[in-house]
Amino acid sequence: MLSLQADIEAAGGQLVFRTPVTAMALTPKGITVETGGDAPYALRPEIVVNAAGLDAIALAHRMQGLPPEWVPRGWLAKGNYFSLSGKAPFSQLIYPVPEPGGLGIHLTLDLAGQARFGPDVEWVAKPDYRVDPARRNRFATAIRSYWPDLPEDALVPAQAGIRPKISGPDMPAADFRIDGPAAHGVPGLFNLFGIESPGLTSALALAAFVCAQIGRPNA
Ligand SMILES: Cc1cc2nc3c(=O)[nH]c(=O)nc-3n(C[C@H](O)[C@H](O)[C@H](O)COP(=O)(O)OP(=O)(O)OC[C@H]3O[C@@H](n4cnc5c(N)ncnc54)[C@H](O)[C@@H]3O)c2cc1C
Repeated sequence: MLSLQADIEAAGGQLVFRTPVTAMALTPKGITVETGGDAPYALRPEIVVNAAGLDAIALAHRMQGLPPEWVPRGWLAKGNYFSLSGKAPFSQLIYPVPEPGGLGIHLTLDLAGQARFGPDVEWVAKPDYRVDPARRNRFATAIRSYWPDLPEDALVPAQAGIRPKISGPDMPAADFRIDGPAAHGVPGLFNLFGIESPGLTSALALAAFVCAQIGRPNA
């Protein structure tokens, strides 16, 4: 990330933290953006890329002048992780067959070799990053399908993340959605919706796609 930041700054860009976009208006004269934080500001950018992740849909709802049909419905799929106390007998990642809404409770190893299992799929109404210890049994059952020798009481609640989905339970998985001017007709506006897994792996490809649409393929 530091290397990407260096590229942005070397190209004359600036990264501004702790500055939430609070309001936006799409007018015939262009887009206006208002920001909050310690130093509220108003600007009139030529291009706006809404890549606000979990907040992308809420932010799009706050864009005055964007017809509501261009804002999809969103669902939140929490992914919980449990870590393994003790050493895992594995040196590679293990992926079971995917489950609806996610990749299945797989094994990952962090850089220190610590094993972590997850994420599962828990549909939630609002973000809550606590991991419910009661999910341990469900994890143990899933893990024993590929590691029958998982010791009793070896699973410890770890972290959780939330996937910003644009398809809900029992619906077919949706692809990433990138709405540019060719879709909604607003010059300079790009809304990225449903950027869940594998959004991190795809981040640079997504950026290249948007840059190509803006007409700056080498940006
Ligand atoms: C449990 C789980 C497992 C995952 N596993 C994988 C994986 O194995 N591989 C993979 O590739 N991907 C994985 N992902 C997906 C990946 O984490 C996301 O796709 C990626 O982080 C999304 O990046 P983003 O930049 O679109 O959004 P985010 O990382 O959410 O960034 C959005 C940014 O916008 C900012 N923001 C929000 N609202 C505003 C506002 N109003 N004004 C200004 N800024 C705002 C936020 O502060 C944040 O910094 C996983 C996700 C989860 C939840």
